[in-house]
Amino acid sequence: MSARFNGIGVSPGRAVGPVARVQAPQLPPRDGAPIDTVAETEAAERALSAVADELVALADRAGVSGAVLVRQSRMAADPSLVAIVRQLVRTGRPAPRAVWEGFGAYRDMRASDPLRPAPDLGELDDVRDRAVARLLGEPPPSIPDPGMPFVLVARDLSPALTATLDAARVLALVTERGGPTSHTAVLAKALGIPAVVGAPGVTALTAGRQVAVDGASGEVTADPDTETVGSFRDGSGRAVSRSDDRSPGRTRDGRPVQLLVAVGGKADIDDALSVGAEGVGVFRTEFLFFDRDEPPSVAEQAHAYREVFDAFPGRPVTTRTLDIGADKPASFVRLGDQPNPALGVRGLRVARRHAQLLSDQLTAIARAARESSAQVQVMAPMVATTAEAAWFAARARDAGLTSVGVMVEVPAAALRAGDLLRVVDFVSVGTNDLAQYTFATDRADGELADLLDPWQPAFLDLVATVLRAGAVAGRAVTVCGEAASDPLLAPVLVGLGASGLSMTPRLVPAVRSALARVTNEQCTQMAAAALDSEGPEEARHRATALL
Ligand code: PEP
Ligand code: MG
Repeated sequence: MSARFNGIGVSPGRAVGPVARVQAPQLPPRDGAPIDTVAETEAAERALSAVADELVALADRAGVSGAVLVRQSRMAADPSLVAIVRQLVRTGRPAPRAVWEGFGAYRDMRASDPLRPAPDLGELDDVRDRAVARLLGEPPPSIPDPGMPFVLVARDLSPALTATLDAARVLALVTERGGPTSHTAVLAKALGIPAVVGAPGVTALTAGRQVAVDGASGEVTADPDTETVGSFRDGSGRAVSRSDDRSPGRTRDGRPVQLLVAVGGKADIDDALSVGAEGVGVFRTEFLFFDRDEPPSVAEQAHAYREVFDAFPGRPVTTRTLDIGADKPASFVRLGDQPNPALGVRGLRVARRHAQLLSDQLTAIARAARESSAQVQVMAPMVATTAEAAWFAARARDAGLTSVGVMVEVPAAALRAGDLLRVVDFVSVGTNDLAQYTFATDRADGELADLLDPWQPAFLDLVATVLRAGAVAGRAVTVCGEAASDPLLAPVLVGLGASGLSMTPRLVPAVRSALARVTNEQCTQMAAAALDSEGPEEARHRATALL
């Protein structure tokens, strides 16, 4: 009999296939044999340090997830963890067991530390498994290779694991933890793989069992009947329409909606161009800054920015200044131990304390912009007040940049978007952070993911407020963040007034075709229905019923 699991559908598309599980090391039972304390201590320290290096190397090629990998690398190198492990070896535990138990003690210690945020358990477990596997002479936790395409099921997929994911072999992703903006969700959308996250009980699914996954409804069916299998194999097996359409975004009746992409650097350009992106909605410059003891020089920055600008001649490239702190740590700036980093010094607040960092970056962006024919715009992250926006705008203009804006990621900024537009040229809605701050819910916390659902009417109200302010001021406003790459929500955002949507490149075709199926009038009606709803399910249901 088929069993059903319900989670959050975060990347549309349907797939049927055998389950594969992430392979993790198995600790041998404790035998109490005497150990060479010095040798075991050295082995444990070597393993932790090698894992720290391995994670940094992975971060270099991980794109969006780079910040998390750097954070994980710091866990592996944390002197308090190393001290705990040493102590456990001294009490007679061989290195693999000392590391395993050491991570448990470290997790408890961090959880009760009022000065540091508790680490993400999935990230911590991944670091532990890597170190233990190394000590046991086993390969690091990895995506399995059952020799055929598979549905990957895991408690959580760490960024380190997904950095090695071969999208061609994965039919769908299903995790027990995670929310709509979790790493797995972002990645699945980026790769065009159907995905369901936050699905309780799915880790009971054993390898090889057939499952049907619906990445839109969030339903996972084990041992599906032949009818379900047939309906899932109707040719729409993968999420994204792979059509060759490269045309600009527009509704069925011709209202233009710019299809923009989020990029982190040169590595993302090919994907962006291959789907016919009309420009860059958010260029996340911080990836150039991670894992360094010193910020990159102005020349190095200018060179890196130019590589992106030159790929979009005559096109908009909205370049975001450094957004470090909270979920994007950087080692060259000491932000101190903050009780709650997401509510502390991050984004533009870092620039306010380290003005040279900002002025060097603005100089580099302006230099690269002068040498390129892209329409370079610059915007600041994490702006809360008009005074902050004015402070940023003055510096950006002094540097020679002519199109200056801010991201609207804080409810205070959304409520006063009209004021912001008096001191900057444009605003762009950052939906990931705006949802986080609207619902006082950590964007990485899967347990509270339903609060981060972009169909939440309160969240849509704030987006609508910003878009209305744009219309009053006669300025185009774009929307970026995960919500903007949801093909179902796209018509709602357009109905609320968005002039452009910035998304992960792989979803451009899906959003393009979603928009091409609706008229401007339908978008308006869908937006009104969503705003008039009492909860996200009702909003989604009422809006999509108008399709
Ligand atoms: C956002 O917050 O929506 C955004 C685009 O910025 P990031 O996800 O990089 O914080
Ligand atoms: Mg943000």
